[in-house]
Amino acid sequence: MDQPSGARIFCIGRNYAEHIQELQNPVPAKPLFFLKPMSCIVPPGEPIPFPKHGSVLHHEVEVVVRLGRDGRPASAAEARGFVDGITLGLDLTLRDVQDEQKKKGLPWEVAKAFDGAAPLGALAPCGPSLDLGHLTFTGAVNGQVRQRGDTAQMLLDIPGQILALARVWKLRKGDLVYTGTPAGVGPLVPGDTIEVSGELLGTFSWKVVAG
Ligand code: ZN
Repeated sequence: MDQPSGARIFCIGRNYAEHIQELQNPVPAKPLFFLKPMSCIVPPGEPIPFPKHGSVLHHEVEVVVRLGRDGRPASAAEARGFVDGITLGLDLTLRDVQDEQKKKGLPWEVAKAFDGAAPLGALAPCGPSLDLGHLTFTGAVNGQVRQRGDTAQMLLDIPGQILALARVWKLRKGDLVYTGTPAGVGPLVPGDTIEVSGELLGTFSWKVVAG
C-alpha cells in the first residue's frame, strides 16, 4: 500500500468500556493516543512474525480510517469530512512487555510499535454517506470468534478522535487512525490464523509465524 511520506499511524487506547474493564484499566479522562511507524504495517495475507522480545502477543481488532487531506478540522462534522478510506486492522500488543512498561511508567513503543505490529486490511473508499457510528466487526482466531465490535460502543467516536488528534498534530493526507479495540483481546501463537471481518469493511486474514 502506497502512503505519502510523512504520514503517521495514530492509535487510541481504552476507547471501549468493556475492554477497559477486562484489562482493569481506568477510564481515561482525556483520549489516550500513541503512534506506530508505517513500517509496522503487514498487508493482508502476509505472515505476522512472532516478536522475539516478548511472549504474550495479543490481538486487538480495530476499525482503521485513512485521512484524505491535510489540515486541522475545527468541528466534528469537518473532521468526518477528512476520512476518505476505511478498513479493519490489528493493533498487535506484546501484553507482557506492555505490563512491564506500564508498571515502570515507561513508554509503550517496545510493546506496540515493533515490526509487524500493525496488520492492515485493504482500504475501501469511505464517502460522506457511510455512517461511521454503526459499524459492526469481528475478529476470529482459527475460526473461533473472540472479538465482536460495534463502533456505536466507542467512548469517543471517530470524528471526535480526529478532532482530538488535530489539537496535537496538523493532520496529513495518508494518516491512519486505529480507533480502539472492543473486549475479547487474547493471545496469538505461531500457527494461529486471525481473520477480521465487517459487513461494510471487508474480510482479511493473517497467519502468525515463528519469528
Ligand atoms: Zn488498540
